[in-house]
Amino acid sequence: MLEYLELLKDPFETFKIADELREKAVGDVVTFVVNRNVNFTDICVNRCKFCAFSNRKKFLLTLDEIKSKVREAVEYGCTEVCIQGGLLPNAKLDFYISILEAVRDVSEDIHVHAFSPMEVYHMAKNSGLSIKETLNELKKAGLDSMPGTAAEILDDSIRKQICPDKITTSQWIEIITTAHKLGIPTTATMMFGHIESWEHRIKHLLIVKEIQRKTGGFTEFIPLPFMTKNNELGKIVKGSSGFEDLLVIAISRIILYPEIKNIQASWVKLGVKLAQVALHVGANDLGGTLMEENISKAAGATSGEFLPKEEMIRIIESAGRIPKQRDTLYNILSP
Ligand code: SF4
Repeated sequence: MLEYLELLKDPFETFKIADELREKAVGDVVTFVVNRNVNFTDICVNRCKFCAFSNRKKFLLTLDEIKSKVREAVEYGCTEVCIQGGLLPNAKLDFYISILEAVRDVSEDIHVHAFSPMEVYHMAKNSGLSIKETLNELKKAGLDSMPGTAAEILDDSIRKQICPDKITTSQWIEIITTAHKLGIPTTATMMFGHIESWEHRIKHLLIVKEIQRKTGGFTEFIPLPFMTKNNELGKIVKGSSGFEDLLVIAISRIILYPEIKNIQASWVKLGVKLAQVALHVGANDLGGTLMEENISKAAGATSGEFLPKEEMIRIIESAGRIPKQRDTLYNILSP
């Protein structure tokens, strides 16, 4: 911990080391995935203080609407659909299975990246099932991987203040490690730039590193700056600066090296130009084309909802890197 805090006092040295480690880990290739987000509902029983998405429009997509979004994604050439939503009161496992079946009715092949650890906990609890039983059923119904969202900051003193209804740190770790053991890979995320300190961020990164040592189930790490608009927390904190966002990306690369190869710069949260800079301080992935992005937009992100594949390629090339389309599991698909 102390060595990292010491290093952060020299930001440009931190950037330099992170860039060198990025080169060692993955070279000059920068990847992206062609995907579509499907947020099936914004109705949610939780009241996370940073959330600008829940209960605004009170929409709930029908299975036919989900199918038509998946069909559009397949027609566009998406290799992944990322499916998440609010926590519908009393939603049981069968509701989530019906979503997976709807996707599989449209495509057997598309990679289904779905349901956060919080959603898994919610469906398991409402169905009287264990986490393991729930994840097994989801996998049988076609779940390929999970977003490692709902991590926020993995420290219960922070979680109690910003998302008191959410799963605890140990529950997040349990759900993620159970998924990994069942052969369901996940991403790992961290939402920073609110009430947490550098110590909390480093602790979070060390937890992620430790899980990866044990399971090897994380595909990437995604640092997500807190978006300050239209939520309660944004009224009392200022949010991180662009410079701080870069430092978080750099220290993520340094701490997670060599366990986690892929550090993502989220163009939705950072904006395209800062994401390009992030590629020079440790990041090697730009995330997805997305097609629609409701959650960050609600919280004030202004970078749009969709980056076509050609635009992704242009952005990476103009940052001096080699663009490659990947699938969700980081297999390279095309030059
Ligand atoms: S972050 Fe997720 S769980 Fe929390 S209120 Fe928003 S939709 Fe609900």
